[in-house]
Amino acid sequence: MKILDGKATADQIKLEIAAEVEKMTAQGKKRPHLAAILVGDDGASQTYVGHKEKACAQVGFKSTLLRLPADTSEEFLLSEIAKINADPDIDGLIVQLPLPKHINEQRVIETIDPAKDVDGFHPVNVGKMVLGLPSFVSATPWGILELMERYGIETSGKHCVIIGRSNIVGRPLANLLSQKSKPGDCTVTICHSRTKDLKEYTLKADIIIAALGVPEFLKGDMVPEGAVVIDVGITRVKADTKTGFRLAGDVQFSEVSPKCSYITPVPGGVGPMTIIALLRNTLKAAAL
Ligand code: NAD
Repeated sequence: MKILDGKATADQIKLEIAAEVEKMTAQGKKRPHLAAILVGDDGASQTYVGHKEKACAQVGFKSTLLRLPADTSEEFLLSEIAKINADPDIDGLIVQLPLPKHINEQRVIETIDPAKDVDGFHPVNVGKMVLGLPSFVSATPWGILELMERYGIETSGKHCVIIGRSNIVGRPLANLLSQKSKPGDCTVTICHSRTKDLKEYTLKADIIIAALGVPEFLKGDMVPEGAVVIDVGITRVKADTKTGFRLAGDVQFSEVSPKCSYITPVPGGVGPMTIIALLRNTLKAAAL
């Protein structure tokens, strides 16, 4: 069993991006600039935004964080997005999700200029991605594909079972992995909360991607020998630690890992690669 080390891979890619930024600035071009908007004070969201700001600094990007209170009106948020859309110094914009209940997330996503939508959530980018056209691919799916590619994991002709059909992970991943591309060319099965006998599908998989947000859902008896297992889940569960919680994945690691050819840990697997995808997309946006 080999660990797919997302942290080490992400560190390596950060060096590559930093070298590209150096080259750009040496040619007199401006540094890529990522803006983030955080509404409210959700603990997990603050942590994610903090990681993104730190990663920007590590590769030499400029970053701007706009913090807004939880009672910010949708109208005000949309007007701030419009300002950033119009700012030529800012290349990429992310609005940290989830948003407070009174704000319509879809309207927010659709207000971001598709050319600055480095999260790849805007329908224009999703549509282009589905058609296999150049686009900003959403961060977590891109990070997973990049991690598999860097470890030389063959996807062509393999059966990939994805658990979870969300718009940000399961569905774009299913689409990308089924495309005629590398990595891709997979036969894909999507399982979800209404799937009956889910284990029947996972036992026939070469690659299992668990993205459902149910801690330690995938047990040892659901995984065939030699499978590649990617654990996307991150759930804060109560624990006797300094913070009062620990991060749990969707995979029962101690049972599943001995059966795998490759497996991602939580933390240190998919999470760091998701941030890299944002950096890559911002670099791409800066070159537009
Ligand atoms: P979501 O809640 O939007 O969707 C969950 C999906 O899982 C749904 O499609 C649902 O049908 C399916 N599901 C739920 N319970 C199920 C069950 N018992 N059996 C089968 N399917 C079931 O979730 P999401 O936004 O895609 O996130 C999933 C997990 O991935 C969460 O833990 C989230 O925190 C994590 N996540 C991690 C990263 C990262 O960078 N590592 C990025 C995004 C999401």
